[in-house]
Amino acid sequence: MATVDRSFLSWPFFEERHRALAEEIDGVGRAEAASWNEFDEDDQGAVDGTCRRIVQRLGQLGVLRHACAGTDAKLDVRSLCIIRETLARHVPLGDFAFAMQGLGSGPISLFGSAEQKARYLPRVSQGSAIAAFALSEPHAGSDVTAMQTVARRDDAHYVLDGEKTWISNGGIADFYVVFARTPDEGERAFGAFIVDTGTAGLTVAERIRSVAAHPLARLLFKKCRVPASAQVGETGKGLRVALGTLDVFRSTVGAAALGFARRALLEAVQHARARRLFDQPLSEFQLTQARLADMALDIDASALLVYRAAWVRDTIADRVTREAAMAKLYATEAAQRTIDGAVQLLGALGVRHGSPVERLYREIRSLRIYEGTSEVQRLVIARELLAGEAEPARA
Ligand SMILES: Cc1cc2nc3c(=O)[nH]c(=O)nc-3n(C[C@H](O)[C@H](O)[C@H](O)COP(=O)(O)OP(=O)(O)OC[C@H]3O[C@@H](n4cnc5c(N)ncnc54)[C@H](O)[C@@H]3O)c2cc1C
Repeated sequence: MATVDRSFLSWPFFEERHRALAEEIDGVGRAEAASWNEFDEDDQGAVDGTCRRIVQRLGQLGVLRHACAGTDAKLDVRSLCIIRETLARHVPLGDFAFAMQGLGSGPISLFGSAEQKARYLPRVSQGSAIAAFALSEPHAGSDVTAMQTVARRDDAHYVLDGEKTWISNGGIADFYVVFARTPDEGERAFGAFIVDTGTAGLTVAERIRSVAAHPLARLLFKKCRVPASAQVGETGKGLRVALGTLDVFRSTVGAAALGFARRALLEAVQHARARRLFDQPLSEFQLTQARLADMALDIDASALLVYRAAWVRDTIADRVTREAAMAKLYATEAAQRTIDGAVQLLGALGVRHGSPVERLYREIRSLRIYEGTSEVQRLVIARELLAGEAEPARA
């Protein structure tokens, strides 16, 4: 019986509490996998319902307390990465649900006022409120500064008008952190605003189906009025809130990819040992061994980059732009190669709908696109290199 390599947990990036957390989440993944992986992917209601159920359970189990920072605690990126990697290995939708509670409430954890933290974070961490992060627009994906949603000041309120698309948890979220231009405060001013579901003027215009079944939506804001106290972070500095939040969570996308890749390698090794052809196990062929070796190498390289970025953020630097970009770029591209390799090793079984590697094949694809495409990560790395900022800024 093949097992997953967990020797990385003895690397110097981790403390005892991280090893204990990995053990705990592995137990959660094992216990919940059957129930969380079983839903009709063609039924939006089933996808939404499973996601809600997962969030509630992750809250009950105490896992979501790692997804947000209270008034006295900060986000521990190594913990976020260990949880994402481990959940992704067992239950892709479990990883999605955990990650979105973190990203959706991330602006509040990192930039929110004491009142905003007290009002939203306990519910996010208990799993009684679902969070979402609404930055992208139909004409503003990689180029976030092209966003057209505006928030105009009206006495003690802001009034939002515009459109957001590809919003994860769209349709099931209890609140959205929405980014908008604030033209009254300057041509290049942006704001971040908490908009509760049910606020007049906010509607879910379309549910979006993607290659893997997740809750996603396009949102419309028409004269959507929120109190000025719903603004997160400094007036006019909403882009800093968005980019600062992504800087923390980007390495965790690499961690999810790593979890998918580890699962794919496990499935590939098990199959290669069990499958006999030409009178010997598939694993005895050197071509097979070369493929498995490349997969294992990609996985270790990804793990080193992901946990390097997480460790740097947790221990020495506030911004980890270069490290996080490298971790996300390498781990997501490598996981795509590893999963494709696993599909190939399984032959027809690899493309059978609903099989673990077929699901991973669909799950991995979006990770190379969201929270900054692979091309954008390359541009970020090159920009830092050419600016001579190879060393992380010391906190
Ligand atoms: C499953 C999924 C979930 C998502 N969830 C969220 C969410 O919760 N919240 C949210 O706000 N958004 C979300 N998004 C949106 C995501 O962040 C955007 O799709 C992403 O930023 C890319 O933007 P785009 O799709 O508009 O592509 P574009 O920006 O139009 O890019 C198109 C292509 O151009 C390339 N490109 C961009 N710039 C350059 C350049 N300078 N040189 C060369 N090539 C370039 C890109 O790499 C890409 O290949 C999600 C997307 C997906 C697929």
